[in-house]
Amino acid sequence: MTEKDELVERLESGELRLYELEEVADPSVAADARRSFIESQAGVSLETIGSFDFSADKAQRNIENLIGGIQVPLGVAGPIDINGSYAEGSYHLPLSTTEGALVASVNRGCSVINAAGGSTVRIFKAGMTRAPVYRVEDAAAAERFITWVDDNESEIREVAESTTNHGELIGIDPYVVGDNVFLRFTYDTKDAMGMNMVTVATRAAVDHIESSTDATLIALSGNLCTDKKPAAINAIEGRGYTVSADVIIPHDVVEERLKVPPEVLAEVNTRKNHIGSAKAGSYGFNAQAANVIAAMFLATGQDEAQVVEGSNTITTVDPRDDGLYVSVTLASLEVGTVGGGTHLATQREALELIGLHGGGDPPGSHAKALAEVIAGATLAGELSLLGALGSRHLAEAHERLGR
Ligand code: NAP
Repeated sequence: MTEKDELVERLESGELRLYELEEVADPSVAADARRSFIESQAGVSLETIGSFDFSADKAQRNIENLIGGIQVPLGVAGPIDINGSYAEGSYHLPLSTTEGALVASVNRGCSVINAAGGSTVRIFKAGMTRAPVYRVEDAAAAERFITWVDDNESEIREVAESTTNHGELIGIDPYVVGDNVFLRFTYDTKDAMGMNMVTVATRAAVDHIESSTDATLIALSGNLCTDKKPAAINAIEGRGYTVSADVIIPHDVVEERLKVPPEVLAEVNTRKNHIGSAKAGSYGFNAQAANVIAAMFLATGQDEAQVVEGSNTITTVDPRDDGLYVSVTLASLEVGTVGGGTHLATQREALELIGLHGGGDPPGSHAKALAEVIAGATLAGELSLLGALGSRHLAEAHERLGR
């Protein structure tokens, strides 16, 4: 009997639980045994799911109860010319999606941007947040508490930063609601997206604060962070990177490549992205930012749930004498080139394709460059979709490429 069969028998007899397999077997054998057990319980074959290339051992920091991997097709768009402060040059864009026509759409946008001399990209804010919630006695106690935090910020910084080699506490913003006090901690997390890093650092800080004040910690995350939920605070204050990408496209390039007069593209943007989004109560005043961000996130090992924050993007279009000005501003783009899923074999290769795997020199420069490349890719997606809507080609493109 093989080791795997023996493990499956122990699972079937109830002697072993699914989550205990890695305690008694190599992670790869454990995943095989778990999958076999699930296959027999469900009466299905999971053969393709069981055929994966990443290391089961290393994936233990990304997943529990591993049984295999899901494959999502990966395409490439571009290259796109980016004139950023951290990303400078021509980049092929790895895009992972099951939506036919998306890669073609971004590709078309890249050719428009390149014909206009590339996209200028700048980062205006950087910082990952965690916001614990405390209970205090009343409003007067809230005032005493936030005064204490303000007076002792350097001591709190020392405690928080003692947990990390790279993270730096930028500041703590208090928010009071009656007897609730939220402290929104913001950190520079360098090349890491930083959620684990800032959670660990903030835990150390809140323990210190609680031991020195009368406030009672209710939760390490009080939802004012705000992670993975639609929230105006991220759209206004930013989270991760606040980054703008823009381009001035000569009028003839707009007509030739997007098949639409510049003023029509501007009108589509105003009526759809601004008025339509306002009427819908949306935080995303854009055409398809989440589409491009999700595809880049999947390809490069980002936390896909944070596409929620990425969608806080505003697209502007302004017809000018020297060409059509088009911009995207992503208020809260949360990305890293170390940590999370970035070390998995295929995601690592996708990051290597854009020259941005691992820590940058100086630290933080790789993650910022990735944010700039994703902003440029988002601009390409906006241009293409606005053009398709303006020229009324959207349904045809989806019919031809997506069905
Ligand atoms: P991580 O994989 O937990 O940690 C990355 C670590 O890499 C950093 O803490 C840092 O160690 C180290 N590092 C090495 N070189 C670095 C460099 N150049 N720049 C920055 N750090 C460097 O990743 P994370 O980014 O903190 O967190 C991402 C993970 O958190 C994802 O898997 C995501 O799904 C998950 N997540 C967690 C929560 C949560 O509440 N905990 C919420 C949402 C998502 P030092 O700190 O020692 O410097």
